[in-house]
Amino acid sequence: MEIKEENKLPNSGIPECAGCQKVIRERYLLKALDQFWHEDCLKCTCCDCRLGEVGSTLFTKANLILCKRDYLRLFGTTGLCSACNKTIPAFEMVMRARGNVYHLECFACQQCNHRFCVGDRFYLHENKILCEYDYEERMVFANMSSDSIAQMKRQAARIGLSRSVETCSGYGSTEPVCGEAK
Ligand SMILES: [Zn+2]
Ligand SMILES: [Zn+2]
Ligand SMILES: [Zn+2]
Ligand SMILES: [Zn+2]
Repeated sequence: MEIKEENKLPNSGIPECAGCQKVIRERYLLKALDQFWHEDCLKCTCCDCRLGEVGSTLFTKANLILCKRDYLRLFGTTGLCSACNKTIPAFEMVMRARGNVYHLECFACQQCNHRFCVGDRFYLHENKILCEYDYEERMVFANMSSDSIAQMKRQAARIGLSRSVETCSGYGSTEPVCGEAK
């Protein structure tokens, strides 16, 4: 919405200010929303800044006249919630984790739905929020499922091998070796 600064039109009589309902006797007036305003009366409902000075745009919504900053703060969006992928209105409280933003109600462990309190630890794993418990469980699982299982197998195999060598050679064994009696 553009704000225009105009000289009073000679044939329009004395215009009334849409803000204070008083006549505008000043030489300059502002025209916005198809109404006339004192320069001092066209203000942001939120922060009271004079809109005639803040650039030349104003925003209206639900009978509010707002400066751009307040409009964006109130009706703009913060971004997409990383959990539900819906937009987050700018005035809503959000949770931030690294580069992600979340609705407050969406900020929960995506495994067990545990809600976090202030001071709780959470983890971001593959862009999912996890509570400490689920994160650790997943880490264990992840380690098991990757090459460390193979590693464990190899290790187990080595242990088995060395034991059989041991038993056959009999070094350090208190048990009968290779079936021979002492
Ligand atoms: Zn006024
Ligand atoms: Zn404002
Ligand atoms: Zn969400
Ligand atoms: Zn959890």
